[in-house]
Amino acid sequence: MPFDIIINYCMENSDMQDLQLNRCDKCGQPAKVFLGYGPHRFCAEHFNNFFENRVRKTIRTNKLINYGEKIVVGVSGGKDSMTTLHLLHNIYGKTGLNKIEAIMIDEGIHGYRDNALQIGVKYCEQNSIPYHVVRFEEEFGYSMEDVMKKISGDEKLGSTCGFCGVFRRHFLNSKALEIGADKIATGHNLDDECQSIAMSLFNNELAKISRSGETTGAKKEKFVPRIKPLYETPEKEIIAYAAFNGIEHYSEECCPFSWMAKRNHYRKMLNELEEFSPGTKHSLLATFRKLKPMLLENEKQNGNKLRECGACGNPSNGALCNVCTQLEKLRQMNPRKAASRSLKRKSSLTCVETKEM
Ligand code: SF4
Ligand SMILES: [Zn+2]
Ligand SMILES: [Zn+2]
Repeated sequence: MPFDIIINYCMENSDMQDLQLNRCDKCGQPAKVFLGYGPHRFCAEHFNNFFENRVRKTIRTNKLINYGEKIVVGVSGGKDSMTTLHLLHNIYGKTGLNKIEAIMIDEGIHGYRDNALQIGVKYCEQNSIPYHVVRFEEEFGYSMEDVMKKISGDEKLGSTCGFCGVFRRHFLNSKALEIGADKIATGHNLDDECQSIAMSLFNNELAKISRSGETTGAKKEKFVPRIKPLYETPEKEIIAYAAFNGIEHYSEECCPFSWMAKRNHYRKMLNELEEFSPGTKHSLLATFRKLKPMLLENEKQNGNKLRECGACGNPSNGALCNVCTQLEKLRQMNPRKAASRSLKRKSSLTCVETKEM
């Protein structure tokens, strides 16, 4: 196969047999990347241009970043967040248009997150980007390994990811507030977004789906809005871009708890659909965008708006926010330890409605 990287290649596409077509659409040099949904063929340079222009367009058309805002990037060390940090640093940080910083959340998963975060720390130090590391264990007394031990064997408590995602969003938000950030940028990509849309659809969670998108929430006293510059960018193209640009990222071990994540099934299903019919993921996102105003209107008419969490007073969909709900589960398993923790954290809790990072 003449291409280095083939993305969303449709097996029915016989163009690939024709060597004349294995040339970059822009300059005629041998193509390195084939994107089935265009179809597009690009050399590395023109793929980079295509990729960066799309990210800039996502930011510009959705007004994700305004001049002078302080943006913190939630960095896990993986390809998505490292690419987000790299792009925002190059486009905004280096030019002085915006302050770019990084927050890294260490959930306490040894041999996985500690190794991944080292890559984030190295990048920040090499590029003089201020960074902050927040550790679950230091903040509320449990690492994810502790949580795993506590919940194992009790299916009613849900998966480790159900705790991890909620706590990570909470600490990302509280650290961003502490350092005076205007926005939190995350590495969510097109694939993540499509998985979330499909999960919400199949779970009959219209309220959840109506609140997702390229940006989450307006700035409030205890809430820092979240933006997704890679929202329209397919995951495989991020892998290609990171490879072409030497962006170091952690890609060795998967999280040892990831087999529990429900979204794995949706990832597989959507990848199969994309393979069969290139462009499926972009179409799903476009459909969601058309439906979103109607879904929001529907939520308004049903009177489904955020209220205050009964335990911590932060914005919540239900009587308790997600963080307090999960903390309550832990408290019931070990009343003495968790009771003291919840008192310590009572005034700083915030409910953040997004998915796992
Ligand atoms: S796979 Fe689950 S437990 Fe592991 S880091 Fe992601 S959300 Fe946390
Ligand atoms: Zn070219
Ligand atoms: Zn709460």
